[in-house]
Amino acid sequence: MYSIILNISFDSRFFTQIVLVPLQQFSLNKLQRSKDTPLRETLDALSSDQLSPAFGLFVKQLQRGKQLEPYRFLDNQYLIGIDGSQYFSSEKIHCPSCLTRKGTRSKMRYSHQILQAVMLHPHMRQVLPLAPEPVANTDGSSKQDCEINAAKRILANIRSTHPKLPIIITADGLYSKQPFIDTVKAARMSFILVAKTTDHKILFQWVDEFDGLGQTGHMQLTDDKGRQHLYRWVNQVPLNGSADADQANFFEYWLQVGPKVTYHNSWVTDITIGKHNVVELVQAGRARWKIENETFNTLKNQGYHIEHNFGHGQRNLSMNFFTLNLLAFYIHQILELCDPGYQYCRSKFSARKEYWNNLRAAIHIMLFRNFEHLLRNLADPPEIRAP
Ligand SMILES: [Zn+2]
Repeated sequence: MYSIILNISFDSRFFTQIVLVPLQQFSLNKLQRSKDTPLRETLDALSSDQLSPAFGLFVKQLQRGKQLEPYRFLDNQYLIGIDGSQYFSSEKIHCPSCLTRKGTRSKMRYSHQILQAVMLHPHMRQVLPLAPEPVANTDGSSKQDCEINAAKRILANIRSTHPKLPIIITADGLYSKQPFIDTVKAARMSFILVAKTTDHKILFQWVDEFDGLGQTGHMQLTDDKGRQHLYRWVNQVPLNGSADADQANFFEYWLQVGPKVTYHNSWVTDITIGKHNVVELVQAGRARWKIENETFNTLKNQGYHIEHNFGHGQRNLSMNFFTLNLLAFYIHQILELCDPGYQYCRSKFSARKEYWNNLRAAIHIMLFRNFEHLLRNLADPPEIRAP
């Protein structure tokens, strides 16, 4: 696997190898220990940084093939959602990188968390992951790492990998604080971040004040289904009560079905808000759920077994298994986006899990010439009688 990753290319053999990664839960478990120990040892010693360049290479290949064009949004920028997730937790198994906290019965609980950045678009089903950033303890540090620190690192990594990409960062309320916003600006990126009343009392007081003076923008739209979309916005409001507070632009949205509000949220951004873009801004802010639903939920519950302990190791094994699994997911997103053969085969199965089960069963009992051969046979199976 080591050599596969270091020789990344877009040939079908590579696809085949990587595509099979999420299917290995069974084979890894069933392999005799003597056989898979060298694989685990190699992966444990491999620095996670050596796998990360794959994500950037994929983006560049997609860009070259004009596959990123549909992802442009809000003045040709790219929306990148960031969010944290935990993929490993145990009271027994641990390594020096584990985060630690006292769990139930005051036993120590060990965990691994990552911060994930994902390129997304409100109208595109596929999400494109960028290199994950571990929230992990490093040697010699007495302080636990945290999601915000990981976020600052991930922004620097994204900017150095993609120096010219026009980027809007979207994230939840944890991130709409001044230090993080300053980091986003320093990385030459824009932002759309959830801002809740509970965290931004002063900001909301300002907004209400402007509203009283008639200086906020308002818009109301009714869609085909009769639902009401209500928008309110104001530019240049102090983000908090401190003397040197950043100025931010604020927008708020209500979805009303009949007399009932079924969705409400509010955000801050550096993009100047007006009637021309407030609908898109809300779509961008709401697209953030795709990182939870279309990314983490898929990785956890749709056949990738991201929370399964494939092996923990003493250095990088846990993180590297996570990254390889994520790369497999990424390849599938790329195939869904641009490979007609894959799209055709996938369309034959409604649930993703069912698709993987069929793929797994097929390779368990039959030999195929290559990945295309496998897909063709799975999509339109020949009539075979058991011997
Ligand atoms: Zn660990």
